[in-house]
Amino acid sequence: MANQHFLNEVNDRKTFAIISHPDAGKTTITEKLLLLGQLIQTAGSVKGRKGDKHATSDWMAMEKQRGISITSSVMQFPYKDRTVNLLDTPGHEDFSEDTYRTLTAVDSVLMIIDGAKGVEDRTIKLMDVCRLRDTPILTFINKMDRDIRDPIELLDEVEDVLKIAAAPITWPIGMSDFFKGVYNLYTDTIHVFVRGRGHTLMDDIRIQGLQSDEAKTLLGDDWEAYVEEIDLVRGASHEFDHAAYLAGELTPVFFGTALSNFGVREMLDGFVEWAPSPIDRETNSRMVSAVEEKFSGFIFKIQANMDPKHRDRIAFMRVCSGTYSRGMKMRHCRIGKDIKVTDAVSFTAGDREGVEEAFSGDIIGLHNHGTIQIGDTFTEGEDLKFTGIPHFAPELYRRVRLKDPMKMKALQKGLQQLSEEGSTQLFMPQRNNELIVGAVGQLQFEVVAYRLQDEYKVECIYEPVNVNTARWVDCDDAKKFEEFKNKCRDNLAVDGGGHLTYLAPTRVNLMMAEEKWPQVRFRATREH
Ligand code: GDP
Repeated sequence: MANQHFLNEVNDRKTFAIISHPDAGKTTITEKLLLLGQLIQTAGSVKGRKGDKHATSDWMAMEKQRGISITSSVMQFPYKDRTVNLLDTPGHEDFSEDTYRTLTAVDSVLMIIDGAKGVEDRTIKLMDVCRLRDTPILTFINKMDRDIRDPIELLDEVEDVLKIAAAPITWPIGMSDFFKGVYNLYTDTIHVFVRGRGHTLMDDIRIQGLQSDEAKTLLGDDWEAYVEEIDLVRGASHEFDHAAYLAGELTPVFFGTALSNFGVREMLDGFVEWAPSPIDRETNSRMVSAVEEKFSGFIFKIQANMDPKHRDRIAFMRVCSGTYSRGMKMRHCRIGKDIKVTDAVSFTAGDREGVEEAFSGDIIGLHNHGTIQIGDTFTEGEDLKFTGIPHFAPELYRRVRLKDPMKMKALQKGLQQLSEEGSTQLFMPQRNNELIVGAVGQLQFEVVAYRLQDEYKVECIYEPVNVNTARWVDCDDAKKFEEFKNKCRDNLAVDGGGHLTYLAPTRVNLMMAEEKWPQVRFRATREH
């Protein structure tokens, strides 16, 4: 039987990430959450993306130059006796694979929608990733201080496009210049909007009861119409259902404006109340419960040079069960070795601190000297492997050529390490000595070139290569597989992890290969 202190720690944890389309307000809301969590005292200190002060999580000159957040970091803060872990995800879609993997390490997500724009592309994509695991989703409709679209229409869009039931918890009163606040459909309270209070925390002004005199005064001539609207909303929308939310079938919806820090507190209150505590996780042999006392965790991300003063790489681990304590022995399951870990770090808005203790649901960083890869499982001795940490076939491919051919070794080493981090994927064709890198977005290539030069002192050039897509191949029939490998040698390559891959010059070529070799599996994703 697990001890009570441990059980309380685990149950109090809420580990989540934010999904949204660029510009919907993720950075702004992150800042307000940190303000509410008292991790920062004034907004504006987290990230001045577009040129002003740079974010504490920025780690590379290039990132600052471009004003984008390439890498993710983790922020932990206490709120209402709970411990909240917020995993930041890169805003730029060229780094979406990083985002997808981060989503495997959380227990729920917050979806932000720009009220003027509604459901946008990137949100649809990220939602698809969440659906793979039925991740619970809470929704915040942002920018109520602007001219937004009809809220009823917005909820319809969420339901139609994202295929999830929407249950409004709060409902806006007016919008843009006439935005007066939000009404909580469940507590019958109005939270009154006061302009220009976004940077610090202040007391909220609340009115109890839509039927109260204060409510009538606030709404003036619009009161009657608003009461009717609320009746309509109550009749036409889904009611909040906690079980349906936890199953990923229904999303509670809050309205507000992140910029003015309004409606964010309500949303966070709902979040810590309803969001799941660390959930059970699947391995190749059994389910691991978050409240098991024996420690386990998996690596979902590897990142280099977060702080130029520390030139090492950090492997981000999601703790799935038990307790990490400084100096403990862990089993690195893939290589079957026990290691003593004395210097794991935690992340608080980008600052790295040594961590003494961490529980299921927390994220800790291990110093990686080249032996840790994405997807690796660590335990207190049991041989396990957490599953469901995907690797996606890249969408863009380039051949890498060296400016100085003498540096081949350094180039290979650099590309190998960067591919283990998940920065790009490396493919080595069987028919020649070329090196092909694959990425989800153009920017990833640039980051890799920059880092090869910065960290490995090699200059490389990219050239176009005739590859359209890649598929990881395997086959149960060893003889057939040999035949396939001989016949298709020109298309085969080994990836950075040593897995056999089919590089298809065109979609048609891939289709034909699949038809010709029905026994061979062509996979668009592979497990780490
Ligand atoms: P991200 O790309 O999702 O991280 O979006 P940001 O948080 O950087 O916000 C994009 C832009 O929208 C910035 O100029 C913000 O100041 C602005 N913004 C964010 N929230 C609000 C809001 O509630 N109201 C208004 N009017 N602007 C907002």
